[in-house]
Amino acid sequence: MKIIPNNLKRMYDLYATEYEAKALEVLRSGWYVLGKEVSAFETEFAAKMGAKHCVGLANGLDALWMSVLLLGIGTGDEVIVCSNAYIACVMGITKSGATPVFVEPDAYDNIDADKLEAAITDQTKAIMPVHLYGMSCDMEKIMTVAKKHNLMVIEDCAQAHGTHFQGKALGTFGNVGCFSFYPTKGLGAFGDGGCILTDDEELADRFRTYRNYGSDVRYHFKVVGTNSRLDELQAGLLRVKLTHLDEMNAERREIAKRYENGIQNPLITLPRIRPESDSTWHQYVIHCALRDELAQFLLSFEIGTVIHYPIPPHLSEAYQSLGYHPGDFPIAERYANEVLSLPMYNGMTLEEQSFVIEKLNAFHPKEG
Ligand SMILES: *Cc1c(COP(=O)(O)O)cnc(C)c1O
Repeated sequence: MKIIPNNLKRMYDLYATEYEAKALEVLRSGWYVLGKEVSAFETEFAAKMGAKHCVGLANGLDALWMSVLLLGIGTGDEVIVCSNAYIACVMGITKSGATPVFVEPDAYDNIDADKLEAAITDQTKAIMPVHLYGMSCDMEKIMTVAKKHNLMVIEDCAQAHGTHFQGKALGTFGNVGCFSFYPTKGLGAFGDGGCILTDDEELADRFRTYRNYGSDVRYHFKVVGTNSRLDELQAGLLRVKLTHLDEMNAERREIAKRYENGIQNPLITLPRIRPESDSTWHQYVIHCALRDELAQFLLSFEIGTVIHYPIPPHLSEAYQSLGYHPGDFPIAERYANEVLSLPMYNGMTLEEQSFVIEKLNAFHPKEG
């Protein structure tokens, strides 16, 4: 049985007729970029998440770097981010000239809030909590530290659409919540897309202006902006998917529960959910000291897995200029060698999952 890590076709098939009807409706409308589907999606997504404003953008990276820029953070400023972040988080910080300051992850694979204060300097302007794998960061501690030191908070929710901490949706704690709608994400489009959430009306207006070449009125340019517009087709399809987000997240929780109950192998450490939060299981990430052997073993049965991520940003070739070396962030470096994302997607069958569990439990590499 061949099992791929993330089966997008299966997720499409779940609601295919609804997507197809909406796609035709948009195609036949004669209006394709920033229109009524985008406005409706912005209203509906903001309402669903419990934020005052949503601004649709072209992708998640734009949401991050535009947040940094529009909050007035740039050269000489520091932004705190976890050392096991995705590279886009770091690019979101450095694109505006700011410097990332890395803090190690905790046992929940996300930034260790107890280590935040030690990383704060006179240059620190913001904290960027990245809710990796659909898991929540400790937003209570993060917001307390941010308030105490007068720092801004930019949440990266690209993997956590509909995850809650203390009953409140992620993306509504900080100054801005950044989302990606890349097809593999929990609320994935059929192409690229992204957005920000904020309660700050003036800031939302700045995003609206900036995303469209810096203009509110056609051909009247107030600032040198960019082109980061969400298109009507993606927004329409996202509106369809949004109506199913709760059931899709519930299904992923069931899949995660089955992994939790079924995997019994002392060589494998299962993910844990932070107290007072839920998870939307963007990835089901296990830790295993013999990770590469395990991935190879699974592959021999045609079970595909992915490593999120094999190289921590501070050791990435792209960031040699930051001057870091192996050993600088030992926890992130260890995680990079241990983590393995198991197959996880909406529409995954019981049979497929049982097969994965059976093979995980059969992994007993020869000793010595
Ligand atoms: C996907 C992702 C992004 C970037 O989103 P794009 O839409 O691909 O630009 C940023 N941060 C995290 C954590 C992500 O997973």
